[in-house]
Amino acid sequence: MLLEIIGTGEAYDRFRVNAAVLVQEQDFRLLIDCGPTVPQALWRRQLAADAIDAIYLTHIHPDHASGLTALLNQWASTGRRRSLQILCQPGQQPHLEWMSAYAAWPEQLPFAIQWRDAARTTEIGPWRLQTAPTQHSVSNLALRLEQQGPARHARGSLFYSGDGRPTAASASLMTGCVMAMQECFSPLEQGEGSHHGDLPGCLRQLQTARPRHLLLYHIEDGQHNAVAEAIRPRVDVSVAEDGERWCCVTGTQLDTSMGEQGERYAAGAG
Ligand SMILES: [Zn+2]
Repeated sequence: MLLEIIGTGEAYDRFRVNAAVLVQEQDFRLLIDCGPTVPQALWRRQLAADAIDAIYLTHIHPDHASGLTALLNQWASTGRRRSLQILCQPGQQPHLEWMSAYAAWPEQLPFAIQWRDAARTTEIGPWRLQTAPTQHSVSNLALRLEQQGPARHARGSLFYSGDGRPTAASASLMTGCVMAMQECFSPLEQGEGSHHGDLPGCLRQLQTARPRHLLLYHIEDGQHNAVAEAIRPRVDVSVAEDGERWCCVTGTQLDTSMGEQGERYAAGAG
């Protein structure tokens, strides 16, 4: 179970790709979130038009979803015919349907989209799926993916918060995960009414949820050094960087020299 970090940026980040990740196990690939700068970051990886099986959208703020039109447009232009699953919240689906239709307007997309209610879906590809709301200005659903199979085998797992301040439910969802990614907009305490995470809150959550490794992302442009400096002595938490790859079974970072599997993954081959 591989985690590839496509982007770690906030909405208007000058340098980082909008926050998004690609999760892969065997031949199944799930893209989580798709902001406006995500499609180009995917194209750079030269993935085949049908390489991604499903897209999960934590919420539809533009920096998490507005790249959908460009991405589907490119897939339609480069020969995708295989159906696509999109997991989202039912109240947000009509907007995403419009964005998807616009990708091929005035024609129809040459592939089907299977819309799924994120909160009611319990399995996606090879993984068990669970969701929980965070505290955000629109409804945002954090998710947890977990490998299935016999308990005697080490099972990979990933928590991804999307956007927003942790809630009791999202903190509980993170508990015991191998890899966790938590939005951390500010290095400074933001207060209980805030719609964003902050470093003191993320560190409290790390203390109780105890993921093997916590990656902080969606940090306010210009504040990365302040966050990185504050956590420097620790080995269980780091600032996520675009392009990093992590193993969700062992909680260790992989690099581009991870061998044939990584190279094949980078090339988008099955
Ligand atoms: Zn948002």
